[in-house]
Amino acid sequence: MNQILKPVLPGTLMDGRAATLGVMGGGQLGRMFVHAAQAMGYATAVLDPDAASPAGLVSHHHIQTAYTDAEGLSRLADCCDAITTEFENVPAEALRTLAGLRRVAPAASAVAIAQDRAAEKAHFGRCGVACAPYAEIHTAADVASVSDDVLPGILKTARMGYDGKGQVRVQDRAALASAWNALGQVPCVLEKMLPLALECSVIVARGSDGAMVNFPVQRNLHREGILAVTEVFQGNVPAAVAAQAVAGACAVAQGLDYVGVLCVEFFVLADGSLVVNEIAPRPHNSGHYTQNACDQSQFDVQVRTLAGLPLTQPRQHSPATMLNLLGDLWGQRGADSVPDWAAVLALPGVHLHLYGKTQARPGRKMGHLNVTGATAEQVRATALQAAQILGIAPF
Ligand code: ATP
Ligand code: MG
Repeated sequence: MNQILKPVLPGTLMDGRAATLGVMGGGQLGRMFVHAAQAMGYATAVLDPDAASPAGLVSHHHIQTAYTDAEGLSRLADCCDAITTEFENVPAEALRTLAGLRRVAPAASAVAIAQDRAAEKAHFGRCGVACAPYAEIHTAADVASVSDDVLPGILKTARMGYDGKGQVRVQDRAALASAWNALGQVPCVLEKMLPLALECSVIVARGSDGAMVNFPVQRNLHREGILAVTEVFQGNVPAAVAAQAVAGACAVAQGLDYVGVLCVEFFVLADGSLVVNEIAPRPHNSGHYTQNACDQSQFDVQVRTLAGLPLTQPRQHSPATMLNLLGDLWGQRGADSVPDWAAVLALPGVHLHLYGKTQARPGRKMGHLNVTGATAEQVRATALQAAQILGIAPF
């Protein structure tokens, strides 16, 4: 059981110091966490080696060291009352070190499971939540003896994958062997290729007292392994499937004795059945719509879980569509051109979020656009107009 700790209340403390929340990692998720924490009256600290990290740029404190740097970690602990992480590839060891000094959520043990696809799948099994048939690949003998049941499949590196990186689709055993060689013979899982009817995900949050809340289930469209569009409105995901996804996500969080915001991604198969794909021990790209469509965002809830404040069930007040703004959109109107933001902002219910990244590269997440409105039809129509202006393919 987690210890129930006194909350870190926001604002200035009795000694004149501002209550401070810290985050490991300075990417866009860290930036939006910092914004949410600051809006509530916390000071913030970010640890990230990059001088121009999106979160470091907007935080009160930016500790610019490697994630494993002992001095950097102790400086972070010194200025923070509680610390979280914005990406799962922060070495679990660094979180363990911090946990010896300060309140840390989620725990290193939960992050360690999310870092490793094999450990993650074993956890799903323990929680009774079905995932795709899979095999662990550690040796050439594993490649040779893999069951036909998991072919054709997707070979995924067990660690460090994101946005479809470290994944190869393989038709047969020969292709599997060469794909595993191409991936450097690192530990992998081979997942059976499933016939997907749709993809969805759900953001849940759990407090140190075990209280759980969830956002509505969102429907996701990926292109080339990267999230492109998220749509969230009634009827978008069949109600029974959505209820099953929420129950599955809560079981996964409880099984980890999790504290914090957790995203659980699912596949809905052609026959209507639901299988879990993977988890992210943090807010998630597919939850960005909550910033403008719900009465609290996934980042507001992250702040509450970290600070030990009460959780209340979030309410979605508008149907929403989120469009990811990838680096591909820059330079479309001539060399060095930026997307036509003014034209997009002329549409009703459009909310632009840019992450402060200076280099636009293909596939790089530069920002997102949330569209809200009175009805799902209206939101969809506006989002399609925005997509057309920006050069995003219709969905
Ligand atoms: P991220 O961390 O950015 O969500 P990732 O690199 O961890 O992505 P996955 O979520 O494992 O990658 O896979 C990316 C996408 O590839 C999925 O959203 C889905 O569209 C497709 N995909 C993955 N596994 C399977 C599978 N077993 N069968 C069919 N499609 C799959
Ligand atoms: Mg994924």
